[in-house]
Amino acid sequence: MSERDRAMRGSLFVVSAPSGAGKHAILEQVLAHDPNLQYAVSATTRQPREGEVDGEDYHFLEPDEFRRRVEAGEFVEWAEVHGHCYGTLRSELEKRLDAGTDVVMQIDVQGMESLKEAGLEFVSVFVAAPSFEELERRLRKRGADGPEAIALRMRNARHEMERRDEYGHVIVNDVLEEAIADFEEIVRAERRRGGRRE
Ligand code: 5GP
Repeated sequence: MSERDRAMRGSLFVVSAPSGAGKHAILEQVLAHDPNLQYAVSATTRQPREGEVDGEDYHFLEPDEFRRRVEAGEFVEWAEVHGHCYGTLRSELEKRLDAGTDVVMQIDVQGMESLKEAGLEFVSVFVAAPSFEELERRLRKRGADGPEAIALRMRNARHEMERRDEYGHVIVNDVLEEAIADFEEIVRAERRRGGRRE
């Protein structure tokens, strides 16, 4: 790739957070206000939650189909999280980045590590809840998971929080509006650094 092509390429933002930390709410607002930032929809084998739309929230795939695509090399990375498979399809990233559009994806810590190993360049952001108590309260309030699934998500949250230092930026999502502003500032700083449009 020439220097010029590299300079024109979009930036990739990778966001990780324990479930319930509120990354969804932050990204929803940031994406709504920024036409140059697009969301890479992950694929998963888990069942859709109420209100989730196939192709918007996730590409919901049967396990056989997920496996077929893994074998066909269609994923940039994939991992097993909370007992289900999740992965990023190349098709969600390449065309947009080549066209100079910035892309944001949300993946877990294992996914972030795979991207590093694959040699991809990206800006990494970890969204943390203010405390474990608050995280658990949010998961219960969301009502999407039963007690066992919540316990599993809380155990995973503890492991994930231990690895927050591996990220370039950490946002503590206490007041949502402030967390959104923090995220937007990270995007602006990256664009300034790359000399791209705001
Ligand atoms: P949820 O089931 O709550 O939507 O997501 C559970 C976890 O899967 C979250 O930690 C989320 O970051 C992770 N996840 C979602 N999409 C991907 C993906 O494409 N790759 C990886 N490695 N993890 C993902």
